[in-house]
Amino acid sequence: MRLTRLVFQLARRNASLIHRREMATSDRGSSIIPKTVNPDIQEERNAATFNVEDFALWWHGGEENLKRKRYVESSVFADIDENKTVASIQSLSHDEIYAAAMEDALALAGKLRKLQKELNPGGKDIWPGLFSGPELWGAMPGGNPFTVHFSMLVDAIRNQGTDEQFEKFGKRAENLEICAAFAQTELGHGTFLRGLQTRADFDSKTDEFVLNTPTITAYKFWPGGLGHSANYSLVMANLYIDNKPKGVAMFMVPIRDEETHMPLPGIDIGDVGKKLGFYGVNNGYLGMKNVRIPRTNMLMRHAQVEADGTFIQSPAAALGYFSMVFGRCWISANNTTMLAIAATIATRYSAVRRQGSINPKQPEVKIMDYVTQQMKLFPEIATCIADRLAALKLRQLYHQTERDIKKGKYDGLGEIHALSCAMKVMCTSDSAAGIERLRLACGGHGYLASSNLSNLYSTATAGCTYEGENTVLLLQVGRFLMKSAQQVMAGKPLAPTASYLAKIKMDQWSGSWENIVEALECATANKTHQALKNIAARMEAGQTQGEAANNTGIELTQAAELYGRSFIAANFLQEVTGINAKTRSPALNKVLENILELYLVKAALDNMNNIFRIVKITDEDVNSLQASLEKSLKSMRPNAVAICDGFDFPDRNLLSTLGCFDGNVYERIFEEAKNCSLNKEPVPRVFHTHLKPFMKSKM
Ligand SMILES: Cc1cc2nc3c(=O)[nH]c(=O)nc-3n(C[C@H](O)[C@H](O)[C@H](O)COP(=O)(O)OP(=O)(O)OC[C@H]3O[C@@H](n4cnc5c(N)ncnc54)[C@H](O)[C@@H]3O)c2cc1C
Repeated sequence: MRLTRLVFQLARRNASLIHRREMATSDRGSSIIPKTVNPDIQEERNAATFNVEDFALWWHGGEENLKRKRYVESSVFADIDENKTVASIQSLSHDEIYAAAMEDALALAGKLRKLQKELNPGGKDIWPGLFSGPELWGAMPGGNPFTVHFSMLVDAIRNQGTDEQFEKFGKRAENLEICAAFAQTELGHGTFLRGLQTRADFDSKTDEFVLNTPTITAYKFWPGGLGHSANYSLVMANLYIDNKPKGVAMFMVPIRDEETHMPLPGIDIGDVGKKLGFYGVNNGYLGMKNVRIPRTNMLMRHAQVEADGTFIQSPAAALGYFSMVFGRCWISANNTTMLAIAATIATRYSAVRRQGSINPKQPEVKIMDYVTQQMKLFPEIATCIADRLAALKLRQLYHQTERDIKKGKYDGLGEIHALSCAMKVMCTSDSAAGIERLRLACGGHGYLASSNLSNLYSTATAGCTYEGENTVLLLQVGRFLMKSAQQVMAGKPLAPTASYLAKIKMDQWSGSWENIVEALECATANKTHQALKNIAARMEAGQTQGEAANNTGIELTQAAELYGRSFIAANFLQEVTGINAKTRSPALNKVLENILELYLVKAALDNMNNIFRIVKITDEDVNSLQASLEKSLKSMRPNAVAICDGFDFPDRNLLSTLGCFDGNVYERIFEEAKNCSLNKEPVPRVFHTHLKPFMKSKM
């Protein structure tokens, strides 16, 4: 029995190695990259205490999923031009990057359509399911101009439109027969929806809406794909009937001719120009002058305008924002993948980079042997795992709420809105800060475009802004917590994820995992009640409710962050110690327990200023936490490379000279530098036109 298991394990391990090697093969003509694996990274793999394939199976949700993922990757990446790297894309002009991004995205779309037919005809899990996320970014190093179309737009039509509207617009969008942008933000307003200035006036004589951009600040600005890719835009505008405002609604507006792609009459449209990242995503601007669309182009699942101008309000105001909840779930999960990619790059690099020694006169050590380096790498590995698991849980809760809404049950909306806001903030800010830490962990070479870390950072940090700016979202979560605290005082029941809010003090500190999670929850409750008390005191002193809330903003955002961290920590604890543990091998469970320990101990130390306020904690307790932190780093040291291998990213998706599976870092960095376009000629033209004349001029 044990022998059979061993043979099976070896076969699986070989399958994964073959997959990664195939993916790693370079087709550059006279490459200097060795075909062998760097012994320093091989040594790490040999030392691992668990089977990497077991980790990959767990991380990807079982054998079928993992097999399919690998098959899709092999098919998609098989004929990719290896010369299309992040560095080579970044050396192109803005227009060239856009063209390359468009070409690559459509080539990927074609491949995914074929794979969908082959693997699951009629399904949507591969096409368009895998088109927009970071899982296949290796096929599109310049970005995907259709990201918003598939990540938000189709779902917005499904959730905000009627079934007939989904038939009319949604199905065409889903098949990419039309391409649409999601246009909410304006030059003058993004966060403050009521400040939007775009108008949609109902004209009952023609049964149409008339859309206008009254000022320059009302121009739509930022929507992904809006510049030159989209021929429709889902526009958020203020609805007016008989010149009376009815609130914000969504309108499906044709913006370019479907044949010629020329902007339609009354449409002023273009690209916003170069940005920090998202190079090929074609974020655009849009102005409209007396643009007429049929009444039935307003998405009317919830609020409606009838032909005679009667306005029927949505049964729950929050329903209008439900498509953003989906967007936030999607962003949360994607950002955890970006952090996992960065962690893989920096960890593998740290296993082959040698610099200095710990004991004088002894050989140079791998930089991963420095405890301070471990502290940069391992908590990020733990964070991406914890955040990822919580993002998957959030997605489950989203689908549950979606089903409830269909049955006319709206009571879970407040909680899913708050939780999705909190999770979006945690996953985007954790990943942005984490990727930057990981870049620093790679020293100078981390600063190279070819490391892919700057590209990952610029993509991850955009998530802190779009789909709700993070501070603004935290303030909304703060309001949800305030309401929940008031419910506690009124003896009313609480939403499940805030059920702990009644308990603002803890009986005892033990430092166990359960105790740390309880402490985070209790700290959330304490901070919430503190904020509530301070708002009340400020109002009593004569401040308006708005002033009091603004002046308490720091505590409100802190309470919201604690709520997010508590959710992630509790969910991680449950995954590692709950019923799922029975489905994993003891060796894998031990590794996950190690990662959980690191995550929780670090969370407790990071939040000690809050924990001090809810429980008696001694200097000895803090010392013991510090010892646990150091012990967990030490335990994780032999497994770090193997854990990252378990994420199972093929080299093509890492797009990094530093993170390749074979560890041949220096050859890759050097080859990429040799290929830099500036090195094509021995003497640059500018030497003859400027430098030489200047040096010879004797000025
Ligand atoms: C890469 C990228 C892609 C994007 N894609 C799209 C898209 O597809 N469609 C679309 O419609 N938009 C898109 N956007 C726009 C994005 O959604 C907005 O930028 C975002 O909502 C933030 O709004 P803002 O720019 O108005 O920031 P602001 O609200 O002006 O924020 C600036 C500062 O003011 C603070 N602030 C603002 N209001 C408050 C408040 N009430 N209380 C306390 N502090 C406050 C914020 O915390 C922040 O520090 C994109 C943006 C980027 C960067």
